[in-house]
Amino acid sequence: MIFHTFLLKYGEIGIKGKNRYLFEDALVRQVRFALRETDGEFTVYKKQARIYVDCDGAYDYEEVTEKLRKVFGLVGICPVVRLEDKGFEELKKEVVSYMDEMYEDKNITFKVESRRSRKTYPKNSMEISRDLGEAILEAFPEIRVDVHRPDVTVHIEVRDEVYVYSRIIPGAGGMPVGTNGKAMLLLSGGIDSPVAGYMISKRGVGIEATYFHAPPYTSERAKQKVMDLAKKVAEYAGPVKLHVVNFTDIQLYIYDRCPHDELTIIMRRYMMKIAEHFARKDGCLGLITGESIGQVASQTMQSLAATNDVCTLPVYRPLIGFDKQEIVNVAEKIDTYETSIQPFEDCCTIFVAKHPVTKPNIDVIRRSEERLNEKIDELFEEAVRTVEIIEIK
Ligand code: ATP
Ligand code: MG
Repeated sequence: MIFHTFLLKYGEIGIKGKNRYLFEDALVRQVRFALRETDGEFTVYKKQARIYVDCDGAYDYEEVTEKLRKVFGLVGICPVVRLEDKGFEELKKEVVSYMDEMYEDKNITFKVESRRSRKTYPKNSMEISRDLGEAILEAFPEIRVDVHRPDVTVHIEVRDEVYVYSRIIPGAGGMPVGTNGKAMLLLSGGIDSPVAGYMISKRGVGIEATYFHAPPYTSERAKQKVMDLAKKVAEYAGPVKLHVVNFTDIQLYIYDRCPHDELTIIMRRYMMKIAEHFARKDGCLGLITGESIGQVASQTMQSLAATNDVCTLPVYRPLIGFDKQEIVNVAEKIDTYETSIQPFEDCCTIFVAKHPVTKPNIDVIRRSEERLNEKIDELFEEAVRTVEIIEIK
C-alpha cells in the first residue's frame, strides 16, 4: 500500500486559544526536524486543527514512521491514502480495494466514519458512511459492522481529494519540544542521565547538556560515548548543545585539599555550579540530573540535599523515585542502554573514596570547601573559559 500523506493527531489538553498556535507551530517544526535526513520530499503543514505530512517521491514507510514516533506531542500517526474524486461509484471500488489490501484477514469488525469538508459533495457524511459501509459488507462476506467497538474504524474525509485512513500508530505523547523552555542536562556516560533528559524533554522542554571529563584520566572514547548518547537524546529532544568541560584540575585540587570521604559530594557540588553557569548564560530554566534516591552514596537524601545546596536554579530529577530496572527499561526503549553500558571510565569513578560519606552534613561540607578558597575561583574560570561546545544534531 502506498500512503501519500500522514495525518498527525495531537493531544488537546491545555492548548486552547493562543497556546494552540504555539503548540502546532512547534509540532510542525519538530516534525520537519525529525524528517530532515530522510529520503523523500515531505511537506509539513497545519490545516483545520490538524497537521499533515504530504509525501512526494519514493520514501521508506518504516523509516518515516519510526522518526515520527519520536516526535513529542503526537498521540497518533495515521497513514492516509489520497484518492482523486472520480465520483462515488469509483470511490466505493477504491475503498473496497483499500480494505482488501490493508486487512488480509477479513474476520474483523468495522465501521465507517466520514467527514465532508467540501460541502458541495453530493452526499452528506451520514450517507457516505452508510453507502461505503454497505459496499464493504457486500464485498467481504466475513466482515461485520460494529458501531460501538469496531476493530477498525475507516475514516473518510472528503476534501478536494478523498482521504482514507484506518490505521493509527501510537505517537510518543508528551508535548512538542520548545513549548516549555529549555533546561541543562548533566549528561554523563551512564544509564540514568540520558533517560532523565528524555523524560524532561517529553514535556516540551528543549535540552542543552554539560559533560565533565578529566583527561588524561578519562579517554577520548569516553567523550565520544557521551556524544553518542547526546545524539540519541537529540532524536527526541531536537538539537542538543553539548558543553564539554575539562574538570581535571578542579578534581585534582579537591583531591589534594579535602577529606577523601567527601570528594564525591564536593565534586558534585562543583559540577552543579558549573552547569548552572552555562544554564544561566543560555537562558535555561532548570538543571536536570539522573539521580534516584538511595542509588549510590552520593544520592542518599542527605547527599542530594548537600548537592542541591549550591544550586539556585530548580533541579529536575525525573528518575528520583525509579528503581534501576525501571530506568533500564526506559533506556532500552529509547535505545541508549547499549551505548551506556560500554565500559569507559567516568571522571567521578577515578577519584572515589573507598568509604564515601553517605550522610554528609552540609555545614561540614561547606567548611571543607573553604580549604579550596585559594585557587578554586581561578580554576572555575579556567574550566568555563576552556569549555568545548559541540552542536549535536
Ligand atoms: P548516570 O548513570 O547518569 O551516570 P549514576 O548512577 O552514575 O548516573 P552519579 O555518578 O552519582 O550517578 O551521577 C548522578 C548524576 O550526576 C548523573 O545522573 C548525571 O546527571 C550527573 N553526572 C555524574 N557524572 C557526570 C559527568 N561526568 N558529567 C556530567 N554529569 C554527570
Ligand atoms: Mg555516572
